[in-house]
Amino acid sequence: MTIPLVDVKAQLAPLRGEIESRIAVVLESGRFILGPNVEAFEHEAAAYLGAGEAVGVANGTDALVLVLEALGIGPGDEVVCPAFTFYATAEAIARRGATPVFCDVERETLNLDPVDVARRVTGRTRAIVAVHLFGRPAALERLPAGIPVVEDAAQAFGARLGVARAGALGAAGTFSFFPTKNLPALGDGGLVATGDAQLAQRVRLLRLHGSRDKQTFEAVGYNSRLDELQAAVLRLFLARVDVWNDARREAAGRYEQLGLGELCELPADEAGHVYHMYVVRTPERDRVAAALAAEGIGCAAYYRTPLHLQPVFAPLGYGEGALPVTEQVARENLALPLFAGITPDQQKRVVACVRSAVSVGAAR
Ligand SMILES: *Cc1c(COP(=O)(O)O)cnc(C)c1O
Repeated sequence: MTIPLVDVKAQLAPLRGEIESRIAVVLESGRFILGPNVEAFEHEAAAYLGAGEAVGVANGTDALVLVLEALGIGPGDEVVCPAFTFYATAEAIARRGATPVFCDVERETLNLDPVDVARRVTGRTRAIVAVHLFGRPAALERLPAGIPVVEDAAQAFGARLGVARAGALGAAGTFSFFPTKNLPALGDGGLVATGDAQLAQRVRLLRLHGSRDKQTFEAVGYNSRLDELQAAVLRLFLARVDVWNDARREAAGRYEQLGLGELCELPADEAGHVYHMYVVRTPERDRVAAALAAEGIGCAAYYRTPLHLQPVFAPLGYGEGALPVTEQVARENLALPLFAGITPDQQKRVVACVRSAVSVGAAR
């Protein structure tokens, strides 16, 4: 029996009937773009996040681009972001014509290292993009003061920093509803959350061709809207996201109880972590990954080539060794199966397989 890395189909199966009836209501209404479901979802998401406003957009990448543009970031500006993240984080900065300035990450959290961020701030720094990587809240309170922080919360819907939700603390937070994220859509979708009414207004304008009324065009904008159909199912899933996140946290705790910590470096637990991915570290990563794959167990090594070493950013001149912690975690990280609905037996099999791979290594 194979064990997938993530199992969205199994997660959504119990909701099949309700999903179909929500879709039927939209079909019946005949409204597919910016209708009542998008508006209601924006209100419900803003209330959940404790953000003043939320604006639905086409995907998490656009959410970042629109926020950076609404903040006035463009050519000549620098934006600090971690090198250990999905490409879209830095792509959005470069898409605005600004320069991504890559900082290193912390080994224990895999999130941006505030000390290294401070070192890279210059007179041209206009923003910091903090990524809540793999669902773990980044240390926003330790970032340099006075520079707008954009939270890339694509992997962290529902994560908490103290009493606040990730995405509601910075100048703005951006979310993705790609189907494997903690709050999934049945396709692409994204959201901008912000307490700044003017910023929200600007994002609303940009997502709709720079127009408020589709008659008068005030800016060169985008066509970047959240679909009514996606909003209808997102409202259903928003009501389940805490249950799903609790199930992820419980499964993460179970890996620890099963003794996985004797075999590799586990992600340190933290109350607000929502385990978008369960990522361990081991110098024997490739051997463990091969053993899991041979047993039909899903796993993934994330961001093997970190962003500062990607060909597109070669002109920025970072070399091998420029960001040592990033490069080490890129070699050592491995995501193990974790999803709402994973069973203790499946987790036991994962741990047994890691154990045999690691001890084979030790016997050499
Ligand atoms: C998924 C993701 C994005 C992009 O979201 P899309 O909806 O796929 O455009 C951006 N940043 C991070 C960290 C992500 O994981």
